[in-house]
Amino acid sequence: MLKDKAKIVIIGGGFGGLFTALDLNGVGDTTLINDEDHFLFRPMLYEYLSGEVEAWHIAPDCKELLDSSARFIRGSVTNIDLVNQKITVADRNEPLAFDILVFSPGAVTNFAGVEGAEKFSLEFRTLNDANRLRRRMTEVLDQIQPDSAPQDTHSALTFAVVGGGASGVELSTKMADLLRDAVKRRALRGEPRVLIIEMADRLVPGMGEEIRKFVENALQEYRIEVHTQTRVVQVTAGSITLEHNHNRTELRASGVVWVAGVRPSPLIESLDVERDRRGLIAVEPTLQVRGYPNVFALGDAAFYSDVVPTLAGTAQLALQQAHLCARNVRAFIEGGQLKSKHFVELGEALSLGTEHAAVLSAGQVMSGPLARQARFALYTARLPTWHHRLRVGASWFFEGTRPRPLQPLGF
Ligand SMILES: Cc1cc2nc3c(=O)[nH]c(=O)nc-3n(C[C@H](O)[C@H](O)[C@H](O)COP(=O)(O)OP(=O)(O)OC[C@H]3O[C@@H](n4cnc5c(N)ncnc54)[C@H](O)[C@@H]3O)c2cc1C
Repeated sequence: MLKDKAKIVIIGGGFGGLFTALDLNGVGDTTLINDEDHFLFRPMLYEYLSGEVEAWHIAPDCKELLDSSARFIRGSVTNIDLVNQKITVADRNEPLAFDILVFSPGAVTNFAGVEGAEKFSLEFRTLNDANRLRRRMTEVLDQIQPDSAPQDTHSALTFAVVGGGASGVELSTKMADLLRDAVKRRALRGEPRVLIIEMADRLVPGMGEEIRKFVENALQEYRIEVHTQTRVVQVTAGSITLEHNHNRTELRASGVVWVAGVRPSPLIESLDVERDRRGLIAVEPTLQVRGYPNVFALGDAAFYSDVVPTLAGTAQLALQQAHLCARNVRAFIEGGQLKSKHFVELGEALSLGTEHAAVLSAGQVMSGPLARQARFALYTARLPTWHHRLRVGASWFFEGTRPRPLQPLGF
């Protein structure tokens, strides 16, 4: 049994780390370290891009959320010494000691070594990424002359989304909706061109047939160009080169957004722990890191064997693991028995443009504007803390969730 005020250090203020800290609710002497000052509810980053939600709705301040239940340090962890139980945080002189470590630093974009991808593509993981993409779309629109020929508008407004998973579908439909709306408002001639590039032979490969039908309809409605069995071989400042059936084609692109997969946080590489073939930390069913019973890992950084592939790498999983993690940390401190859990899929909810969504819950699929409302309601319930949920719910109910058009810069 550990002393009552065991030093618990949590790395990462996302779904895994923040919800563990909230669930611990003052147990031990808890410190949460995160390299941003806010938590981010990533499933609604698309709505932030379109202006349907504001930053404070989906990215509340960590300090405010934690209140008095844990100390918060904004900083980047640069080193972890598991043997001597010390953490180094950039720009802090003294390392931080821990009795128990909870490790949940998430993942980073995987550019898979494609030439020019890291340098020239836009990522889509943070508020800043969404701001950059919105700005890029606006800048391109601003350069189109009112008398431009339709084909010139089409060419200038070409954006490629790399990755045909749920992220690619949600992002491309949002972008197409925003761009089409802006073209109309500015009375331009022509249409935007939004492409999805996917290596597999179909989009959203992990999703059930029930929801796929709605995805396909939406892609058609938004006139998204779908390129399956296609590999990106190069990205430059103004183009993307695709390979399909051994043929290469270079296309002009005003923006390439890379949502084609993730790799584990680089922080893991320095740890002398057992990993799976993708580099994820292998954890016991109790979420303890093998060989280090006082270290827990979860979320996108951990490999948990009893999980269906479609649940791996999701917020749904990290959230469920956080509850188990907090429970087991408490048991570890008290000398109690640690538990395991079988995690379940909680359903799927995809935004499709700014007006529609598709929601799969308890085997039933709902689509259209009603599904969009259901998605908002569902996600309100998953936001951290009752206080934040109530504030956000009230704001969405009374102030609405209309998208914010792509106004000319400086407007
Ligand atoms: C655009 C987008 C949409 C998504 N939509 C969905 C969805 O609809 N449904 C779903 O289930 N999942 C979704 N996901 C996946 C989901 O967001 C992740 O699976 C989930 O966030 C994982 O939780 P985590 O705690 O492991 O990592 P995160 O939530 O990413 O949190 C990790 C935190 O650690 C911080 N950090 C990293 N390194 C350091 C360091 N060295 N020092 C200090 N802090 C550090 C990060 O900045 C971050 O705040 C989406 C992901 C993205 C990018």
